[in-house]
Amino acid sequence: MSTFKALVVDKNEQGEVTKEVRTLEEGDLPEGDVTIDVHYSSINYKDGMAAAPGSQIAQGYPLVPGIDLAGTVASSSDSRYQQGDEVLVTGYELGVAHHGGYAEKARVPADWVVRLPEGMTPREAMIFGTAGFTAGLSVVRLEEEGVTPDQGEIVVTGATGGVGSMAVAMLHSLGYEVAAVTGNAEAHDYLRDIGASRILSREDVNPDKRKPLGKATWAGAVDPVGGETLAYLLSTMKYHGTAAVSGLTGGTDVPTTVHPFILRGINLAGIDSVYCPSEKRQYVWNRLASDLKVQSLLDAIASETTLDHLAEDLDAILESRIQGRRIVALK
Ligand code: NDP
Repeated sequence: MSTFKALVVDKNEQGEVTKEVRTLEEGDLPEGDVTIDVHYSSINYKDGMAAAPGSQIAQGYPLVPGIDLAGTVASSSDSRYQQGDEVLVTGYELGVAHHGGYAEKARVPADWVVRLPEGMTPREAMIFGTAGFTAGLSVVRLEEEGVTPDQGEIVVTGATGGVGSMAVAMLHSLGYEVAAVTGNAEAHDYLRDIGASRILSREDVNPDKRKPLGKATWAGAVDPVGGETLAYLLSTMKYHGTAAVSGLTGGTDVPTTVHPFILRGINLAGIDSVYCPSEKRQYVWNRLASDLKVQSLLDAIASETTLDHLAEDLDAILESRIQGRRIVALK
């Protein structure tokens, strides 16, 4: 029987959560139609949370985390996929309730599988990963809500992170002017390089005193931070502006008022990558392989790790110690 390596998060007899590389057998894989030889995975904030003690994300142990994977089909009982097809999977229960991408092999339901778009390698797909897909969903949502480059600045929070970096670069490449918000004072050059024309500190967008309505500044927002920051962004959106909200690194409670909604007609647009319907999924991945593919960014923001160093990387992402996107090479 063929064996493969995987990072396994488990609970020991003392109730402590452990992370270690183990050798698994194909029989350890969950049920599914498509077995995939995983070439690359990636590290997202959610992966850090899934591997952390007391996690609300991991739905049980032992668990192979990794909410993203890309590789080739090893075997398939579903006629849509054949051996050798290049595919990717993100979201659904992958890496939270179903063994995920931090393994040389994975098995998933066929409905979760996305065909790798033309013009994209498995490595590039994982530089994007869930973070890039979420940034792409956010950008597409701004477009759908009618936000165009001539309407003014788009603010991007958590700008050195995965979703933020990708959004800055994509918006810049589409001709939008981008204001990047970061808590990392050393990353200003990096942010300018990837397309920010203005850089703000976290304090700039989280003032001690916030008014129900502030100066109308942003035509749009891409916000993976949430919390008080989002409340400030909402109070400073331009008339009919749209905030695409995907995350919570700055908190879950958003102390806002109705004023920006009823006086400026702003839109609060929720972004979900996990259960995004497959048609939209394929559309956004195709955009990521074409006009949203900023090749220089992919090269600039990617760093690579392996299963052996992954445990430390999963701690690092929770402490904002990973800039850009770190991918996991499995082949
Ligand atoms: P990263 O860790 O790569 O980036 C998060 C960034 O947020 C950090 O780099 C930092 O940027 C900023 N940040 C961290 N802590 C704080 C804080 N206390 N206050 C303000 N800013 C902070 O994570 P991802 O980009 O992968 O994910 C970002 C968020 O989006 C997470 O909450 C994640 O769960 C969520 N998400 C949601 C998805 C969905 O489907 N809705 C999909 C993907 C992610 P800086 O140092 O530049 O300020």
